[in-house]
Amino acid sequence: MFNYPIQIRRLINEISKFPGVGPKMAERITLYLVKNYVKTADELINAIEGIKEIKICKICFNISEEDICSICSDKTRNEKIICVVESPEDIITIEKTEKFKGVYHILYGLINPVNGIMPDDIKIKELLNRIKKSDEIFEIILALNHTVEGDATALYIHKEIKDIKNNIKITRLAKGLPTGSDIRYADEITLGQAIVERKEM
Ligand SMILES: [Zn+2]
Repeated sequence: MFNYPIQIRRLINEISKFPGVGPKMAERITLYLVKNYVKTADELINAIEGIKEIKICKICFNISEEDICSICSDKTRNEKIICVVESPEDIITIEKTEKFKGVYHILYGLINPVNGIMPDDIKIKELLNRIKKSDEIFEIILALNHTVEGDATALYIHKEIKDIKNNIKITRLAKGLPTGSDIRYADEITLGQAIVERKEM
């Protein structure tokens, strides 16, 4: 029985680990790369190599070219308001609305016991440490999706923050966003409005 050479099978296997890419799609991408090797692969290899230089911000965990990201090091941003998001894509979406001038904190996931994701698996401890270390913070915006996981995570964080500091205002985005929908797919106007009309928890 014919099978692809090991080099090809290895690449198919690696590509099939990408989100939303199954084995069939991985096979198509790999064969495309084989066919167009000279044109495409060098560019792709360079682009992937470039990712190695990317860092994670030591304060908010945003993707960055430096140890501290451009938002955290921007002195015009209001450090007293932290907007908590699930992933770096959410920051891009929120920045487009131009309705938020505070700083961020990325959790890299939401609490989801069914999938084995517990509070310690995402960057909640790091958020609480940030809050403990500063006397300046007066609002935490939980810009998490209005889904089961988003609600569970928001409630958990709310309780943990109140245990440390009772005087911090904790808000969530207004329900203008359709229930169950993803912040990152919301249009800028709807999301901007949801930020402006955020509600205290
Ligand atoms: Zn940062």
